[in-house]
Amino acid sequence: MLSLFDTAAQSLFATLLPSDCRLCRSPLTRISQLPVCDRCLSGIRPIRGKVCAVCGERIFTLQSDAPASCGECGASAPPFVRAVAYGSYDGGLRDLIHLLKYGRVRPAARVLGRMLSEVIQRFGDEVVPAVVVPVPLHGAKQRQRGFNQAEEIARAALKCMNSGKVRLAAGVLKRARATESQTGLSDHQRRQNVRGAFAVAAPGQIEGESVLLVDDVLTTGATVSECARVLRRAGADRVFVATVARVLKAEAAWAAAAEDIEEPKVSKAYA
Ligand SMILES: [Zn+2]
Ligand SMILES: [Zn+2]
Repeated sequence: MLSLFDTAAQSLFATLLPSDCRLCRSPLTRISQLPVCDRCLSGIRPIRGKVCAVCGERIFTLQSDAPASCGECGASAPPFVRAVAYGSYDGGLRDLIHLLKYGRVRPAARVLGRMLSEVIQRFGDEVVPAVVVPVPLHGAKQRQRGFNQAEEIARAALKCMNSGKVRLAAGVLKRARATESQTGLSDHQRRQNVRGAFAVAAPGQIEGESVLLVDDVLTTGATVSECARVLRRAGADRVFVATVARVLKAEAAWAAAAEDIEEPKVSKAYA
């Protein structure tokens, strides 16, 4: 009897009691839907320092009168008005995004959505009213994952904002074709790779509107630029971009060779 009780009690505790933090492996002290400890969560910080006013890339300068945009945006304006990101795509933030995408721990979207809502609010009145369009996954990819992380994060962000002026329109953009993994491609190759990858399925929803394009990570900007181009061609008035994370090239340079920033090595499938 006792051993039966023990077994039952153990499985009950295993169900009810927290296990280890999925990011740092330290034991969790409280029950939460998100198996990540407070230390890991509070270690995720927003990007600090000067960034390009257009694309959000880090600008290193000691001059106080340096231009507000980076060299690339100065040379040719991207098809979006402005892109903002909450944090640098590394450390705990990258782990948390991977936990959602590859670990399929969907409660992670709530935390990521809260971060996204913070950066969306930086646009202020410039962006409202707006139609929120998540960057879509290819059908096969979404079926495999069971959800589109960009849409989950956008939904969570809108819940935090509780604004009637910003509405989600998830089906507006679709993937016209699957793209090869962006890993190891140059900026130019990435742009080529995403050319024609997106199509607007519901132009009526964005015609004459401000569109807020949402994704989990901005890597080189090739994907969001292509989406913005397609959205504007379909009649969107202006496109703004908000992502939870952004690859900051200088920070990422040292790790770029080793780190697969789009997809873990285990899957060579569509990115
Ligand atoms: Zn932790
Ligand atoms: Zn820039």
